[in-house]
Amino acid sequence: MTVEKRTMNCITCPMGCEMTVTIDDGIVINVEGNSCLRGKKYAEVEVTAPKRMLTSTVKIKGGILPLLPVVSQAPLPKEKILACARELRKISVEAPIVLGQVICGNILGLGVNVIAARSMKQEEQKV
Ligand code: SF4
Repeated sequence: MTVEKRTMNCITCPMGCEMTVTIDDGIVINVEGNSCLRGKKYAEVEVTAPKRMLTSTVKIKGGILPLLPVVSQAPLPKEKILACARELRKISVEAPIVLGQVICGNILGLGVNVIAARSMKQEEQKV
């Protein structure tokens, strides 16, 4: 039996509660400092299978800007974030793009789509 205490901030909302998490053999047995139950849930996921939202950009042809901001529709496994970012570097899309359009479906087979975080007009549509 290995009991450890870990300090972490809940990132679920802007409150950013600092929590002390007690872990016994990889299982969260106590959480202190959270202001709501979402903090406990965050701590459990962070200890067992941490996830993060991915925000990045992809190349876009014919758009009013050279890069299109994109975001994952759901959090991805933390250890896959860099591989997902590398995958996005291979992608080039063509304007126009609308907000929420799927740019990379089911990235790396993880069951999460990466979508456009903004609309992007074609260059000649600037005015
Ligand atoms: S524990 Fe609750 S109040 Fe605190 S940061 Fe997390 S979600 Fe927000």
